Amino acid sequence: MELKAIFHKNSYQKPLIIAGPCSIETPEQLEQTVKGLVQQGISIIRGGVWKPRTRPGSFEGLGGIALPWIQEIKQKYPVKFAIEVASASHVEEGLKAGIDVFWIGARSTVNPFTVQEIAESLKGVNIPVMIKNPVNPDLSLWIGAVERIMKAGINDLAVVHRGFSNFRDTVHRNSPLWQIPIEFRTQFPELMMINDPSHIAGKRSLVPVIAQKALDLNFDGLMIESHINPDQAWTDAAQQLTPADLQVMLQHLKTRKVHF
Ligand code: PEP
Ligand code: MN
Repeated sequence: MELKAIFHKNSYQKPLIIAGPCSIETPEQLEQTVKGLVQQGISIIRGGVWKPRTRPGSFEGLGGIALPWIQEIKQKYPVKFAIEVASASHVEEGLKAGIDVFWIGARSTVNPFTVQEIAESLKGVNIPVMIKNPVNPDLSLWIGAVERIMKAGINDLAVVHRGFSNFRDTVHRNSPLWQIPIEFRTQFPELMMINDPSHIAGKRSLVPVIAQKALDLNFDGLMIESHINPDQAWTDAAQQLTPADLQVMLQHLKTRKVHF
């Protein structure tokens, strides 16, 4: 049976919303968060299993033990589930667990060896993939990662704009540099462009204004971090929204049709 594409332009209602915790922490945290999000009508959940941390010594994700929890969630709730993969073994474990969508994180997109390893492991596999921009503002590196995944035969593809890192603290955790996704889009007008306001903002108060800006620029979707108890989150506590706060934000967003 041919699986229905997620990221093809006529498969979803714009904006496509993907939401879920930065990291999967416990079965209860996962279920309570997913339950809250399903109540808001969200059907694609994100959740970190393997977490690429900048410095060692912080929580690096639960790894494979979280995968059966995802399988249980999918039996109870009508959701598709997206996780980050950073190696061929992550892809293999994720496929075995029936994960629906993979994404390549900003620290992997910078490395052609890593992206190529992931691409090789995806050959002959029919799964939707999202590719985040690299941490540094290098458009070619982002395009190169997309080309490697396309060459592996993946055609259900989206890109995610999550901003670019800085040396000193700035208003944003990661500067949006909107001209980069805009330029990307002029070169790949058919690819779905998703904005990740959570990692650009770094703090909850800034998430709505960034999400609105993305919609004003006609982005196709939003990937937002949501946690049942954000202040207690093991990673990215300052930027996650409760499912209820996410709903309020989504209700206030205005969709516009400004083409670029
Ligand atoms: C994440 O999505 O939680 C994450 C680690 O993101 P990024 O790769 O954008 O830093
Ligand atoms: Mn995060």
